[in-house]
Amino acid sequence: MIMKIIADTHAHTLASGHAYSTIREMAAAAAGRGMQVLALTEHAPEMPGTCGLFYFQNLRVIPREMSGVRMLFGAELNIMDPKGRVDLPETTIRNLDIVVASIHVPCFGLEHTEQEVMSAYVEAMKKEYIHIIGHPDDSRFPIDYEVLVKTAKETHTLLEVNNSSLHPQSFREGARENLLTMLDLCRQYEVPVTTGSDAHADVDAGNFSFAGELLDYCNFPKELVVTTDFEKLKPYLNCKE
Ligand SMILES: [Zn+2]
Ligand SMILES: [Zn+2]
Repeated sequence: MIMKIIADTHAHTLASGHAYSTIREMAAAAAGRGMQVLALTEHAPEMPGTCGLFYFQNLRVIPREMSGVRMLFGAELNIMDPKGRVDLPETTIRNLDIVVASIHVPCFGLEHTEQEVMSAYVEAMKKEYIHIIGHPDDSRFPIDYEVLVKTAKETHTLLEVNNSSLHPQSFREGARENLLTMLDLCRQYEVPVTTGSDAHADVDAGNFSFAGELLDYCNFPKELVVTTDFEKLKPYLNCKE
């Protein structure tokens, strides 16, 4: 991999219900992959089987450094409908270090037009406490990428290159082509992207084998990848120091 990624802004522990490693296991694995920063972003409460509201309200008790890795604790919110409604109270969200918002089949459903999907993303991006749009790369949720990228720029929201979407066994559809379209527009409009492993097991924490290959393949400018330097990522987050 030519591009050196040092931060993973999207991963899950067993608190998410369908992920399998502890916080410390994730931190150690991320350290082993050379990560300086790891975000643990558990699925928010509308995802079946995940943790509840109080989980997200008590995250202050966890140390922000483990295995030499700077730890960020947040959530992967579910965008619930075309109005961009999300599934944690705003006061709770504002206390999180990092906030990803994504569309998931169990919460949003599959029966939506491109206009409805775009409305969901745009309305979510308008909420300044949402930092990142997770995996906007699935053909089952059709997107106007020009609108997505321009809105990301206007609202200071990061778009994610999701490593798991690019896995050959991913259930998301058309991710490679969709991400190439998105990256092309991000380059054109100078819109930064972030990288998320979306690991659901420690073996994948900080794993950017597919995302890195894609960024190298399209010769994407390093300056627009905020996870190559924590100082570039920080202004997008809710970091206390
Ligand atoms: Zn997701
Ligand atoms: Zn996820």
